Amino acid sequence: MIFVARSPREAKVVTSLRREHWAAAVVADSLDFAPRADLPCIYGVGAAELAPLEEGDVVCLDPSGDIALLYKIGNPHNSLLATNRCNCLCVMCPQRPGDDPPGLLENNLKLLALMDAARTTALGITGGEPTLLGDDLVRLIEACRQKLPRARLTLLTNARRFKDLEFARAVVRAGYPQLFMEIPLFADNDTQHDAVMGARGSFYDTLEALHHLALLGQPVGLRTVLHAMTIGRLVPYAEFIYRNLPYVFQVAFMGMETIGLASDNLERLWVDPYDYRLELAAAVRYLARRLVPVSIYNHQLCILPAEVWPYARQSITTWKQAYPPVCEACRVRDRCGGVFGTGKRHSAYLRAVG
Ligand code: SF4
Repeated sequence: MIFVARSPREAKVVTSLRREHWAAAVVADSLDFAPRADLPCIYGVGAAELAPLEEGDVVCLDPSGDIALLYKIGNPHNSLLATNRCNCLCVMCPQRPGDDPPGLLENNLKLLALMDAARTTALGITGGEPTLLGDDLVRLIEACRQKLPRARLTLLTNARRFKDLEFARAVVRAGYPQLFMEIPLFADNDTQHDAVMGARGSFYDTLEALHHLALLGQPVGLRTVLHAMTIGRLVPYAEFIYRNLPYVFQVAFMGMETIGLASDNLERLWVDPYDYRLELAAAVRYLARRLVPVSIYNHQLCILPAEVWPYARQSITTWKQAYPPVCEACRVRDRCGGVFGTGKRHSAYLRAVG
């Protein structure tokens, strides 16, 4: 545990902390404080950085003084980054694939052990592509299920490796009954899907995997990210899912987060969401009328036709969520998920709903 000193009284307490009970102390910049040689201390930390920290959070303290928040108690958007590696290279990937630091799995298991079982109701397992961990993914999911019996576990995966039925079976078993999978399917045809994923053969790999997961009774959702390479065939995409993949639990149409590779490729990918709103509404209508659960993620209410507002979710992770000044006077701000504060660009058509 770390001790956070925000007041002069708490700064005095740091001098008497017992080393066996406390891993480190973090002290606000406004306080007089005598560092201790036997206890790692980070001091001179700004109030804004300290404000969000509360008991039960898990942070990583870097000797440079940086504080990284790894787990926020009670927040539904916590996740474990299983790996940075990937077997695809999606044109709009917000997280550039790369190598893993040593000991990533062990660090994830340590982080998991520090999470609050009672107050963690959801946990994501993300990447990179988590299935590249192979048997270690089975181990990680089992550990999540045992440590967090109340949590819904969501695995974000391109699922290609579930072409291997036995591996799929091992992962499904490890996570049952808490595991849900979110799988990208970007088109109703191999040419467009493979081009978006940067991986030839990925469309048919994913379809084979989806059938294996259906055979195993694994709940899955499908998702696509909307940009210049995907918006051209949204209704045929919806029809393809309805006719060929009737077992999926939900379909999500996602706005693009303009960081990582999406930022690198922004000029060829960016379409203002206002300009594709009618095609999006038609695809949502197609699925909803056929009772396929459908969601719109990362889109602002003011740029969507009102008929699809009931499908728009507040999906942006809380610490990435932002509301530009135009939102101040907006009547539906409480229901709107806002924009990505991390993003480079958002719609030019945002306007307060009166
Ligand atoms: S003005 Fe802001 S709060 Fe209102 S709908 Fe648009 S993005 Fe959402």
